[in-house]
Amino acid sequence: MHIGFDFDNTIVSYDALFHKIAKEQALVDDSISVNKLAVRDYLRATDREDLWTKMQGYVYGARMQEAQAYPNALEVIKKLKNAGHTLSIISHKTRHPYLGKPYDLHAAARKWIEHYLCDQGVALIAEEDIYFEITKEDKIARIAKSNCDVFIDDLPEILLTLQFPTKIRRFLFDPDQHHVNLNLPTIKLVSSWAMFENLLT
Ligand SMILES: [Mg+2]
Repeated sequence: MHIGFDFDNTIVSYDALFHKIAKEQALVDDSISVNKLAVRDYLRATDREDLWTKMQGYVYGARMQEAQAYPNALEVIKKLKNAGHTLSIISHKTRHPYLGKPYDLHAAARKWIEHYLCDQGVALIAEEDIYFEITKEDKIARIAKSNCDVFIDDLPEILLTLQFPTKIRRFLFDPDQHHVNLNLPTIKLVSSWAMFENLLT
């Protein structure tokens, strides 16, 4: 089986890191939950959208290596690899942030993968099977070209795009259960990597 993974907010969780950095910058205190969207919503509500945009570049660029994988993500990926499945990461992100220092966001993400998606010095996903496309359209085109049997992503708009190949089994990763009302026969909702693993087999 060929399994494709999205990267940001599917393999990597930024909840703790955004909260930590917002605290470092004295933008939030402990009354804001340890959650990326909670930090974003608070900064937006207090008219600091620019700071939020800048913080994203800083997190995905300068501080990327501190981000952690979702619980069980690395273990499940390792098991799938050991079971002989073909694995790809197909993601989209801009090369540089919209605001602030021009960090190379693709390089930072690849460095994270090299460090975390590794088992005793061996990459769990080969470099040539990792794609960071610039746009959502390019990402969908890449998924279509990849011959994946399965794809998991945290964004419904990716999985529901008209061009998304219908032969691919689609999993929506929804750890905070934002999409429980999305009742579509074509998409399976999973709230954890353990659940994803169970439903795959
Ligand atoms: Mg994502």
